[in-house]
Amino acid sequence: MAASNPLDALSKPTVWHEFSPLANASNAVNLGQGFPNWDPAPFVVTSMVDSVQTPGTSTNQYCRPNCHLPLANALADEYNGRPSWSHLNVDPMTNVMSSLGCTQVMYCAFRALLQPGDEVVLLEPAFDIYGSQVILMGGVPKFVSLKTDLTAPPTSNDVFTFDFDALEASISEKTRVLVLNTPHNPTGKMFSREELERISSIVSNYPNLVVFSDEVYEHIVFDPEGSPHISFATLPNMFERTLTMSSAGKTFSTTGWKVGWAIGPDDLIKKMTDLQQWVNFSSPSVTQDTIARCLKRAREPYEEFPTFYDWLAADYKKRRGVLEAALTSAGISPISPQGGFFICADTSRLTFPDSVYEEESLSAPSPMPRDWALARYMTHTNPKVAVIPPSPFYSPENVDQAKNYVRFAFCKTDDLLEEAQLRLATIDPTGDLEKK
Ligand code: PMP
Repeated sequence: MAASNPLDALSKPTVWHEFSPLANASNAVNLGQGFPNWDPAPFVVTSMVDSVQTPGTSTNQYCRPNCHLPLANALADEYNGRPSWSHLNVDPMTNVMSSLGCTQVMYCAFRALLQPGDEVVLLEPAFDIYGSQVILMGGVPKFVSLKTDLTAPPTSNDVFTFDFDALEASISEKTRVLVLNTPHNPTGKMFSREELERISSIVSNYPNLVVFSDEVYEHIVFDPEGSPHISFATLPNMFERTLTMSSAGKTFSTTGWKVGWAIGPDDLIKKMTDLQQWVNFSSPSVTQDTIARCLKRAREPYEEFPTFYDWLAADYKKRRGVLEAALTSAGISPISPQGGFFICADTSRLTFPDSVYEEESLSAPSPMPRDWALARYMTHTNPKVAVIPPSPFYSPENVDQAKNYVRFAFCKTDDLLEEAQLRLATIDPTGDLEKK
């Protein structure tokens, strides 16, 4: 009998296929989708023009399969310039690989490392692409849930905590990869040094285990003193087993350019490069060249801030404040994120008609989970604000953990956030969404 194609299990509509059309059809304010609805900063746009137009450079031709050299140099400078990375001495020739967004970087890494049957430990809620990529490779995702305590103080770091015993129990000789994500999508949790140290002591027992650290929201952080961004690779002895992954999409509001990279030890970077050269040979030179320019410019003063990164974090913090205030006054308690551009909010007070559970849904699990039904009602009826249910970020056994919260994106312009604020303000104080 022919082996089944793992793609078959994945060829079905997802939450994204369902909620974007529903939002459009309902004229909802769309706080579902996780990309900025504004143009990139002027220096980002002019960097692209300069990259295309600079005569005599190779930006319009193929680049090396590992990384366009100017980007590799800019990334090595960037990481070596961070105090926490300075002891690692990232070599642009051997420690940097770039591909089409963090997503394809991760694909190359899984493809290069996994053999059918290898296990990959994912912390859920987990960005949905991780588990699907593992399945595509014939790997086996092993899910460990963050503990969720909605009665904890209202920050994502307090509400979502590690169950280290469960993490330890999930790792074995069969585990090839552990995926970390900080700042974390969807919760906004930032992993603390203590948490990362405990993880490092667990993984140290498994010489073949590689850690992928997805850090795409690394520059969108709200309390750099109390809850700083820490790269797992910078912990003692962890660089040699870690692929630090990031991308330009969130930092420069260029999610469509798909420039992502991995920083890691020679052997792992070489494997990923060997793979890329047989898939797409290299990534587009011009977007990489542009991001190389942007990485340099981002360290300079911007809009009265010492750097572009400081401005970016402050701008997002302001947007977080607007949405948190709107949610609080609507009786939907925000779980304040320490990083990233999503707010998860406690919806346990809200009620809505049972008939929503019977609606035809493109992609909901059966039976439809509460968060899914509520997200549909909030999108199509009241308050007509589109949100994303977090259950797709959980494995089927654990979707119940998602039932009392939904995810709002605040990477949205002032007019959209203000309209959302007005609509959320119409929610009846009892929390009954049927009352207008
Ligand atoms: N990782 C996380 C945690 C994300 O939220 C996203 C985008 N939503 C990505 C990776 C994808 O990054 P890219 O667009 O660079 O492929």
